[in-house]
Amino acid sequence: MHLDRFPRHQLTFGPTPIEPLNRLSAHLGGKVRIFAKREDCNSGLAFGGNKLRKLEYLIPEALAQGADTLVTIGGIQSNHTRQVAAVAAKLGLGCRLVQENWVDYHDAVYDRVGNILLSRLMGARVDLVDAGFGIAFKQSWEDALEDVRRSGGRPYAIPAGASDHPLGGLGFVGFAEEVRAQEAAMGLRFDYVVVCSVTGSTQAGMVVGFAADGRADRVIGIDASATPNETHAQILRIARHTADTVGLGRPITPEDVVLERAYAYPSYGVPSPETNAAMRLAARLEGLITDPVYEGKSMQGMIDLIETGRIPAGSTVLYAHLGGVPAINAYSFQYRNG
Ligand SMILES: *Cc1c(COP(=O)(O)O)cnc(C)c1O
Repeated sequence: MHLDRFPRHQLTFGPTPIEPLNRLSAHLGGKVRIFAKREDCNSGLAFGGNKLRKLEYLIPEALAQGADTLVTIGGIQSNHTRQVAAVAAKLGLGCRLVQENWVDYHDAVYDRVGNILLSRLMGARVDLVDAGFGIAFKQSWEDALEDVRRSGGRPYAIPAGASDHPLGGLGFVGFAEEVRAQEAAMGLRFDYVVVCSVTGSTQAGMVVGFAADGRADRVIGIDASATPNETHAQILRIARHTADTVGLGRPITPEDVVLERAYAYPSYGVPSPETNAAMRLAARLEGLITDPVYEGKSMQGMIDLIETGRIPAGSTVLYAHLGGVPAINAYSFQYRNG
């Protein structure tokens, strides 16, 4: 594989830490060793998160094109748009965010706190648009790009989640290479990697990266989109493209993309009682904070897979914590009593 061939603009601190979750492991019977890789602590840019690893490979292209404005799209409490706003601020670029109504949840301060507050604070122009959830191409995004061009700017287009982009999968190929080096240093090997999936390029990059040592299908995606067919198709498409791009040397098959569909209910962005229980458990046993949109659902999924034995006794598991905690502020009513 040839990841080194692609220019990378450093936005993160470097390799992210891996820490054992001993009390959670013990609580679940002690037969599975759980570790967390802390992508949520990866950068000083506005609380960090998984989109920065992807953006490290998109930003060189934006700068080479002479772009002066980053344009992207997401839900009202999008972590992705917040990370793009932070990168724009850091690089002295303009930022234009199209924020859609992806979530059927109505906290009084939903559009005032958390991610969207931070994006506004960092000077991004935020346009709230009345359109529902979808990871596909959006007219509102195209309109924003055209608007920047008409006013004499040079936009650089970043799709939702920085996923459906020719370079979107590269960041998490690098994640796998980083994990291999950390495994060597720690003297262990992870049997499974658990990761939340919605727009797909995080898992897609991991699938390609871990395919290099035969572990593609040991990456267990936990769907949080509640549209798992679209998410699976997008992960597969991005993984295939990324495999070609880096010269993996073997094709990616549908079986390489493992996506668990049982945890996204009732809908994208809305936690179930079981999601909330998993969030409380991780918080109370480990001081590990997850959010109700993404990591709460992957935490719920990992716990269930361990409790039902589908992650078998004796396994060593890496939980990829992708960030997303700022969104929890938009759910103040949900957690008013903890
Ligand atoms: C975006 C995001 C995800 C999902 O990653 P994709 O690459 O979109 O599949 C998971 N967790 C958090 C916190 C995110 O911000």
